[in-house]
Amino acid sequence: MPQPEQQRRAYLQALGIDVWLPRDQQDAELPDAAQPVAELTDAESPNGEVAPSELDWDALQQRVANCTRCELAASRTQTVFGVGNHDADWLIIGEAPGAEEDRRGEPFVGRAGQLLDQMLQAIGQSRDGVFIANILKCRPPDNRDPKPGEAAACRAYLERQIALVQPKIILAVGKIAAQNLLECNDPVGRMRGKAHALGEIPLVVTYHPAYLLRSPSQKKKAWSDLCLAARLAAESRA
Ligand code: URA
Repeated sequence: MPQPEQQRRAYLQALGIDVWLPRDQQDAELPDAAQPVAELTDAESPNGEVAPSELDWDALQQRVANCTRCELAASRTQTVFGVGNHDADWLIIGEAPGAEEDRRGEPFVGRAGQLLDQMLQAIGQSRDGVFIANILKCRPPDNRDPKPGEAAACRAYLERQIALVQPKIILAVGKIAAQNLLECNDPVGRMRGKAHALGEIPLVVTYHPAYLLRSPSQKKKAWSDLCLAARLAAESRA
């Protein structure tokens, strides 16, 4: 067996996924055509600053590092801008930095991050090959959920990241990411397993790896979401 295939199988096993999934399941029909469910909006630019939508990567990262648009600026150790390939096909969007991410300045570096890495590797992707960002660039204290005003204050930064990366697929991990991106209040169970879109970009929702650590029986559903996302990415590349 060639090395990458062996590796892929090892990761699938780590995810609790049977490695002999029948071919007909892999080739299953896609859900209905991707439906646009959210428009990207442009940023407000206070104090006559250049809007985030005009910034290049370096300027955007600098703007985020100096951001004081919400109260989280006061409690953060540092901002967590995002990491990975600026030309990635895959954009992974999570919720917000946790304690470890706040300390290290990088998204998904705790236990949930390790599982996310395994999920990516199972579909032949790596942390360096994708781009990983969050709805919020700053850690909410005590790991509470982001407040709507915080997500709104941060939105222009994420929109600019999406516009700069121009991904072939967005994978929204967890309720907070999915609800913010799709502007709805549906539970993940209702959003996952189907094709959505953000403007022209296909978007798939799956469970947050932190949830999967608590509920490993849901990993098979996450695997099926990843397969759907991979198919949509391939279609959007074609
Ligand atoms: N959970 C997230 O949603 N994002 C991170 O960066 C870390 C944990």
